[in-house]
Amino acid sequence: MPCGWRTGSATHGGVTLVAGSIHHIDITVSDLDRSTGFYDRVLPLLGFRRSQNVPEGPIWAGAHVELGLAAARPTSRHVHDRYAPGLHHLAFAAPDRAAVDHVHDRLVRLGIHILDAPADYPQYSAGYYAVFFADPDGIKLEYVFTPHWPT
Ligand SMILES: [Zn+2]
Repeated sequence: MPCGWRTGSATHGGVTLVAGSIHHIDITVSDLDRSTGFYDRVLPLLGFRRSQNVPEGPIWAGAHVELGLAAARPTSRHVHDRYAPGLHHLAFAAPDRAAVDHVHDRLVRLGIHILDAPADYPQYSAGYYAVFFADPDGIKLEYVFTPHWPT
């Protein structure tokens, strides 16, 4: 099936792959088993399902993006620092404000480290409403609802 270039799209297995979107994100983690357990608990709350395991680690599929884990080199002493070059944070889309509140409640019950409870962030855009939390390596994650997409 021909895939469009720049502005095209193609449908694979009922999912439309669109230029201008992210296909997958792989995160390097210090303890693959620990982080697999974390993301197995959290990602289903955000609309993802565990789809497969590849040699590098597990993969979860969302509506239009996959997220995978890979183990850090055992000799690596690097600790995640979102103010060093690299990933600052990763934001997942919520369908409405109530979903942000619901996921926050579930995260609290799972004992997950909440960085910032649900709040409005009008400085980002009108109606921006988000909760921030951390994965086991301290990678900042966000679940955000925005009523409008930038035009
Ligand atoms: Zn964000």
